[in-house]
Amino acid sequence: MNTAHPNPPSAENRTLPVATDGAIFDAIGDALLVVDPTRLILRANRAAASLFGCPTQTLVNADLARLVPNAAELGDAWTATVGARTVEVHALGYDGRAFPATLTIGPLPGGGHVVCIRDLTDIAMAQRQLVNRSLRDGLTGLPTRGLFLEQVDHALARRRAGTATGEVAVVCLGIDRFKLVNDSLGYPAGDELLAEAAARITAELGPGVPVARLGGDEFGILVDGAGRKGEAVVAAERSLGVFSGAFSIAGRSLLVGASLGIAFAAPEDDLAAQALLSNADVSMHRAKKAGGGRIEIFEPARHGEALGLLEIELALRDALLRGEFELVYQPILDMQRGALRGVEALLRWKRENGTSVPPSIFIPIAEKSGLIVQIGEWVLRRACSQMKAWRDRFGAAAPEYVAVNLSARQIDRTDVPALVRRVLADTGLDARHLELELTESTVVENPAVGQSVLQEVVALGVSLAIDDFGTGQSALSLLPRLPLAKLKIDRSFVARMDVESESFEIVRLIVSLAQALGMRTVAEGIERESQIRLLRSLGCAHGQGYFFHRPLPAEEIERLCGSPAPTPQRPYAAAD
Ligand code: C2E
Ligand code: MG
Ligand code: MG
Repeated sequence: MNTAHPNPPSAENRTLPVATDGAIFDAIGDALLVVDPTRLILRANRAAASLFGCPTQTLVNADLARLVPNAAELGDAWTATVGARTVEVHALGYDGRAFPATLTIGPLPGGGHVVCIRDLTDIAMAQRQLVNRSLRDGLTGLPTRGLFLEQVDHALARRRAGTATGEVAVVCLGIDRFKLVNDSLGYPAGDELLAEAAARITAELGPGVPVARLGGDEFGILVDGAGRKGEAVVAAERSLGVFSGAFSIAGRSLLVGASLGIAFAAPEDDLAAQALLSNADVSMHRAKKAGGGRIEIFEPARHGEALGLLEIELALRDALLRGEFELVYQPILDMQRGALRGVEALLRWKRENGTSVPPSIFIPIAEKSGLIVQIGEWVLRRACSQMKAWRDRFGAAAPEYVAVNLSARQIDRTDVPALVRRVLADTGLDARHLELELTESTVVENPAVGQSVLQEVVALGVSLAIDDFGTGQSALSLLPRLPLAKLKIDRSFVARMDVESESFEIVRLIVSLAQALGMRTVAEGIERESQIRLLRSLGCAHGQGYFFHRPLPAEEIERLCGSPAPTPQRPYAAAD
């Protein structure tokens, strides 16, 4: 269609509605400034005023450097006498907004320049999104392998530079039999599963732990500064845990498992990010080969530890026979007077080759393999006979109770009341000197069985405590119906209660909850005097932690039985 004017007016006839150049200047949408040779602003249009967030009068007589701090450094843009030059700059508004911009500078006849400024914020944002898109996986929104490797590399570099300590661990997680989901339910279902798995893992681990999609059904987790390897193992266990609940995919409820491999780099290891990731990947594939649904740990051969899960499982089978287990006892004190009240029995495994394997690693393996039944029985027997010996020897000066940890699998697979009855009878220990610790999840996972078992145990005269309270699945609704004597406040809250108000509030809530339900509280992991003061003020009854004593061999507990309670003036002395 021809849109030309049928009768275009001749040039002489053409007039502008408002012919002042000021109006033209203002009508232009781009920010325009006229500056003199010293870059003092002589004129500014409305667009400039709105871009810089001030009235035009404010701009007039201002130095251009106020708006574009590096304006003076633009070299030949100011010296050229013909043609316009465009440069990228950072501009600063009167409203405090800093933004990227282009500056087009054109010389004016007779001196001075006209400057046109365009805001690049939107373009910069679009660029960033494009870059991000290649670093982020479109399906899950997680970083891709490339970005993950960069994050790992950064963590390793900080170790080399000495600006961070602890180990760097990479966990590689693969979804078991993912191909089957894709093949039988179609790719959209596979995608749904991946997105849901990603969401669950990131929600479980929280924002502080980088998670990436490495490709296919594999995810990477970076545990930066893994202390004593426990943190990485816990992150892996928690990630594996998110697969215990069914996934609702394509209208069906699916149970899928995962296999995980963990690899560590100690600060002195000169390991590249790629090498660390492949070590984790190798272990993950070993976990898959071993049937899936498990965690494998990669240990560099030079450590000579060969801590593969399979090896641990095999070695665990012999550990009882070889007498490689030992119990240590952590004193539990009265928070008001500092007197020894009880001890918690904690299992230690020292292998024939001299390496110690922490319980956070071997207990989950013992649970999965079913060995926890025999090991748990050994722990109970040993703790009860030790307690009986102390009671016989020290009478009232001995600890009043020994607390023994029970795992969830023990409750599933053992007739716990029968076992407790038998062990008490065999060792001759009075039931009131035994306490059993269970975690919240243990109780929540199987409330019916759990409750009846617990009632039977309590009927024997044994007391019950909930361990690591506040960390697992919440047993809040069950608490009033359970025959519990104590809540043990998890050490993660105690650790921060004197420096972070949320943790303090949680501890306060747990103590008042326990009081309302007629239970006592035991604070775990007390490491500082400031924590003791707060715990006392809240009315927490008992406490344990490195501030008082680390877990000790039986002989050292005997020494404590003989010694009087600390004096009130200096109520507590750190043991180590
Ligand atoms: P738990 O039952 O919560 O035991 C307390 C853990 O906190 C112990 O770790 C203890 O050494 C540690 N701890 C105590 N005070 C402090 C402190 O002030 N600071 C810090 N950072 N840590 C402190 P451990 O001995 O490594 O045991 C870890 C977990 O392994 C136990 O947690 C328990 O869940 C499990 N476990 C240990 N022995 C047995 C057992 O015989 N049977 C079962 N089923 N589980 C056990
Ligand atoms: Mg415990
Ligand atoms: Mg605990």
